[in-house]
Amino acid sequence: MQAPAALPSFHGMPWLYPGPNQPDLKAAAMSDTRHTRLLIIGSGPAGYTAGVYASRAMLEPILVQGIQPGGQLTITTDVENWPGDSSVMGPDLMERMQNHAREMGTEIIGDHINSLDLSRRPFTAVGDSGTTYTADALVLATGAQAKWLGLPSEEHFKGFGVSACATCDGFFYRGKEIVVVGGGNTAVEEALFLTNFASKVTLIHRRDSLRAEKIMQDRLFKHPKVAVIWNHTIEEVVGGDNPRGVEAVRIRDVNTGELSEVPCAGFFVAIGHAPASELIKDQLELHNGGYVKVVPGTTQTSVPGVFAAGDLTDHIYRQAVTSAGMGCMAALDAEKFLAEHETVAETAAAPGAAQAGTPR
Ligand code: FAD
Ligand code: NAP
Repeated sequence: MQAPAALPSFHGMPWLYPGPNQPDLKAAAMSDTRHTRLLIIGSGPAGYTAGVYASRAMLEPILVQGIQPGGQLTITTDVENWPGDSSVMGPDLMERMQNHAREMGTEIIGDHINSLDLSRRPFTAVGDSGTTYTADALVLATGAQAKWLGLPSEEHFKGFGVSACATCDGFFYRGKEIVVVGGGNTAVEEALFLTNFASKVTLIHRRDSLRAEKIMQDRLFKHPKVAVIWNHTIEEVVGGDNPRGVEAVRIRDVNTGELSEVPCAGFFVAIGHAPASELIKDQLELHNGGYVKVVPGTTQTSVPGVFAAGDLTDHIYRQAVTSAGMGCMAALDAEKFLAEHETVAETAAAPGAAQAGTPR
């Protein structure tokens, strides 16, 4: 993890940002087995809300935070659409959610799940700490992760001028020129935030209109430090190796094919997020490029007892408030599932009918 002295960086990895909610991996450092009625994986708005509701239903849930405690909102600044707060800082909001879940009785563990077995109940999850978690029911709330363009030069300069997190890395580009690629809310928000540091911010978008909310677009177009280049794609990140650093991006006009270069010291990729469904991609039904499929109007996945909430299952809304709402639904769905199945199990577990690891 080395960064050049001139342009230190958290390698474009939001979860490496040393914010207030870094996981305490020591908390789960011992390799042991923990059983819980309800395991919640993920600590964004969906996970913490599931924790609040499940705790109040006396399910004594365990919540595993993952490598980005607090989730995506910890890498943004002002959140203006969380009901009840016309303006709140993302990291502060997530810290409040964490405290709320903990105060209600959720056990919050700093660990990251690296494998999951959903083939039988209790379900089994193994953490990087070595701890094995077994659970009668599961809420998956692993959210989404930043997408990259997939260019070899982008990979080469990741952490050396290429980033996906303005909040983490913007500070390193004081007085320099920055390019942002993307046309959604994230790109516009990142571009505006970066004007706090940069001498100039150029937003490059592949079409001739943005998909960001109108109010955000207005702010962008009015900003004196911002320029927008329409109808261009990124061809290559251009830079040097001694020291390694970005000097420009080469772009292509989608109409004429003409190539040109935009000088910059920092290149921020803000082209959306992909659901973090790698862990379960062969075990649950997915749709729309990796989002977990749920029974409409519920959080029930294709495996009974496994519930999904938040950006992991939502390719349309992808908001903090909708994620929190689904976290609530998942906890209520899990409570109902456990009530029904524990009654069945108790009946079946009459003398001589012991069940360990019930095939689902
Ligand atoms: P996330 O917030 O994505 O959290 C996922 C969690 O899962 C993380 O804690 C992660 O550590 C954990 N995890 C992942 N994999 C594992 C694993 N294997 N083991 C254990 N844990 C794991 N929405 C708004 O409503 N308003 C805004 O102003 C706004 N601003 C935004 C700004 C930016 C820059 C971005 C990127 C998004 C913004 N959003 C905003 C969208 C909002 O952040 C998301 O919709 C919301 O955070 C999704 O919540 P979630 O709980 O589904 O998952
Ligand atoms: P998004 O809405 O999916 O937008 C992604 C943008 O990147 C699109 O403009 C897309 O172009 C462009 N893009 C995608 N792949 C590309 C590629 N390979 N090369 C060049 N451009 C590419 O993603 P997002 O902006 O991250 O937003 C995700 C969700 O979070 C949204 O629901 C958003 O509302 C929410 N969010 C909300 C706020 C807020 O409320 N303040 C802030 C941030 C995010 P096209 O337009 O051509 O498809």
